[in-house]
Amino acid sequence: MPATANCRCQLPIDMAIRKITEYPESVLTEMGKPVTKFDGELKDLCADMFETMYDAEGVGLAAPQIGLNLRLFVMDCEGVKLIAANPEIVGTEGEQSGQEGCLSVGKVPAVVIRPQKASLRAQDLKGTWFEREAEGYAARAFLHETDHCNGTLFIDRLPKLRRDMVIRKFKKEKNWK
Ligand SMILES: [Zn+2]
Repeated sequence: MPATANCRCQLPIDMAIRKITEYPESVLTEMGKPVTKFDGELKDLCADMFETMYDAEGVGLAAPQIGLNLRLFVMDCEGVKLIAANPEIVGTEGEQSGQEGCLSVGKVPAVVIRPQKASLRAQDLKGTWFEREAEGYAARAFLHETDHCNGTLFIDRLPKLRRDMVIRKFKKEKNWK
């Protein structure tokens, strides 16, 4: 999910920026496989994901967005910075209507209705389960990134006409580049 504000931070230089997978690549629509190994490789992968996310000026990035069919995301959004392996949304409350975009769909924005609050259950780098609650844009990031781990894109939550419009705009922008 792209940022609404500038939220870059300093990172060590030994990380790699990965190529961002874009719609309609199939990995984006597949159900992610569970993370089973909580080792140094996972730690390095998450470091790369943060680096890739900051480079793209995003606030969240899921593993399918760098071509990996894995239930894993990183985020740094409105003070909520975390790594979530095997994420699940375990509770929601209220409703919010707001702009949302995706690094895999060229950040073309569209209004998406989401719950105002969301509770996330996931595992950290050590495999320890945790629960975290967020609201507003951070809750939106929980929902958007968990969707990615389930093979769902934000455009799948749009009415057909608006979905088609986002895809058209994205393709047009790609051709300009
Ligand atoms: Zn996205």
